[in-house]
Amino acid sequence: MEEERGLSTLCVHGGELKDAHGAPHTPLYDTTTFAFDSTADLLDVVEGRKSGALYTRYGLNPTIQSLEAKLALLEGAPSALAFGSGMAATAALFLAHGREGIVCIGDAYGGTLDLLQNQLPLLGIPTQLLLTREAERLGVLLGGSKKLVFFETPTNPALEIIDIRRMATLAHEFGALVAVDSTFASPVNQRPLAWGADIVVHSATKYLGGHSDLTAGALMGSEALLAPIRAWRSNLGQTIAAETAQLLARSLRTLVVRVERHNENAQAVARALRGHERVKTVFYPGLEDHPGHEIACRQMQGFGGMVTIDVQGDAAEATRIVDRLQWIKIAPSLGGVESLVTQPMTTTHHGLSVAERARRGITDTMIRLSIGLEDPDDLVSDLRQALR
Ligand code: PLP
Repeated sequence: MEEERGLSTLCVHGGELKDAHGAPHTPLYDTTTFAFDSTADLLDVVEGRKSGALYTRYGLNPTIQSLEAKLALLEGAPSALAFGSGMAATAALFLAHGREGIVCIGDAYGGTLDLLQNQLPLLGIPTQLLLTREAERLGVLLGGSKKLVFFETPTNPALEIIDIRRMATLAHEFGALVAVDSTFASPVNQRPLAWGADIVVHSATKYLGGHSDLTAGALMGSEALLAPIRAWRSNLGQTIAAETAQLLARSLRTLVVRVERHNENAQAVARALRGHERVKTVFYPGLEDHPGHEIACRQMQGFGGMVTIDVQGDAAEATRIVDRLQWIKIAPSLGGVESLVTQPMTTTHHGLSVAERARRGITDTMIRLSIGLEDPDDLVSDLRQALR
């Protein structure tokens, strides 16, 4: 049984198709449509009596189906859907399951917050945003209709840890569904379904892709919950391209070794920066004094590759530090082999008002680091020279 294998084995072999030529992994089916011997054969697939390839935008393409089988196995889910971006996955989830209302707990990626605050309300979808420290109010907000509870953990950018089991128990008491954006953790470090979440969201652009060379997204969960999302995905044209699906499957084969090294490097950087005279705070769930450390130890297998620091001085000084980095490149993404740096105020949270950033504890002096696979000593010395 594939699902009983270890994660590294599933990364390499999970979901792979055997073809007539003995290819060691699923080939790229670079076709938009698939031909049938007869109309009866075509109708068997169209009407769902047989599974098979049909049309790539529906996701019925062997390269995409094979990727989705692998993605499902990695999260311990019965099913998965692959999308053209993380935002496509999030938007389809909200449209399919959030129409009665969405409650977002804690910080989230700026695009997700924009969708929740400014766009979904235009369609009449009620949305409410709670800070992590307000999570206990969830019960009050959930009374009545069947809502969707959504959160990231670890959060962006302050790496807060939200207790998945606790939130899922509370939400389920009110008949709400729970979706967790687990992008920062990857399935190597966290499997939200095991803690009671209903759906897992990934921007596969990050650790799953891992090389900053593809844009994709994924949702994992039960077939019953994914079926209505599949319909939105088809008709909004959000399905992953077959070429990207093949590239993503290629990347997933090395996911475990990459993420383990991200974890080690980030831990080394976080420890080296703690106590530095120019650094006020190091946010990393792997540090014993991080407020979410205890929950992270319980629900995560590793603490991830993201480290955020808050530096002394003002915004201009933080920018000078960022601009002086040499190995660590300024770019608004994460999860790739190369280390990247951003200031949340200039990128991911640029769209929020100054007051809203302050309410969320996102300071002008915060610097977010995506720690890559370089030698950790080189990363630490780059950061030390920039801070000097
Ligand atoms: N979720 C998280 C946690 C992210 O950081 C991002 C992007 O940075 C997204 C979702 C959106 O992903 P994408 O850029 O693939 O649309």
